[in-house]
Amino acid sequence: MPRCDLHCHSTHSDGLLKPADVVRRAASRGVEVLALTDHDETSGLAEAHAAAADTGMRLVDGAELSVSWNDITIHVVALGIDPECEALQTGLAAIRAGRDQRAKRMADSLADAGIEGAYDGAAAYVTNVRLIGRTHFARFLVERGHVRDTKAAFQRYLTAGKPGYVRHSWATLSQALGWIRAAGGQSVLAHPGRYHVDSAQMRGLLGEFRDTGGDAIEVLSSSHTAAQTSEYARHARVFGLLASSGSDYHGPGESWVDLGDMPDLPAGVSPVWKDW
Ligand code: AMP
Ligand code: MN
Ligand code: MN
Ligand code: MN
Repeated sequence: MPRCDLHCHSTHSDGLLKPADVVRRAASRGVEVLALTDHDETSGLAEAHAAAADTGMRLVDGAELSVSWNDITIHVVALGIDPECEALQTGLAAIRAGRDQRAKRMADSLADAGIEGAYDGAAAYVTNVRLIGRTHFARFLVERGHVRDTKAAFQRYLTAGKPGYVRHSWATLSQALGWIRAAGGQSVLAHPGRYHVDSAQMRGLLGEFRDTGGDAIEVLSSSHTAAQTSEYARHARVFGLLASSGSDYHGPGESWVDLGDMPDLPAGVSPVWKDW
């Protein structure tokens, strides 16, 4: 089985390393196939390809799309997309525009909780003017001493029900999967174990994802426990979905596992890369 890491981030979204450094780090750690999957953005891929050309590593064009499904936010990783696809780029631009509006509402909400200047404070951590996200707010909250680390920032301020959290409508599932299909890519339901849904809702999500044209689920994700890995391997078989693997690496000190640190896929699933 090739050593694949099909989910990671760079400074073109909320990662800490430039695309070329992500690529070099992955190659030096023995990754054979890497997908750079920045949130709602493909602008890091050109730099990543230039760096990958100096290594023996294969680089897959990817992105991680933000989607609203039945009142919850889910993420769909796109793999093997044509970044020049106009439908995809128009869709990604629309999602990014929503991010800026959401950030202003987040800042207002934090101000109501007594934390002033959060929009400018988060913007100081933005490394791609086209994209602001909760991670940038988390880094600002750490800087100001409101919390010890970014994980605590999410727990205390940035997740549902907390002072800095606001509801937001992302793309619909059928829009996102349509853009990915138009760009010739495969759609992967990212880190399913992270969604706060009961088992009936999860089956509903997996069925709808497949019926809308979804190809695969992340069976292996750094955010999954061993039990969740087994559970999603079983779901992949039952729902006829392919299996993917990704570290969701964001950079030194902010990630649980490093690039390429995932184990092999469990037996009995078909890898998303089987026809590559
Ligand atoms: P956004 O797309 O702006 O809502 O931000 C989502 C990103 O926030 C994820 O990709 C992670 O990088 C980060 N994130 C979400 N939840 C947590 C958490 N509990 N701890 C640390 N980072 C998180
Ligand atoms: Mn992220
Ligand atoms: Mn995600
Ligand atoms: Mn991610």
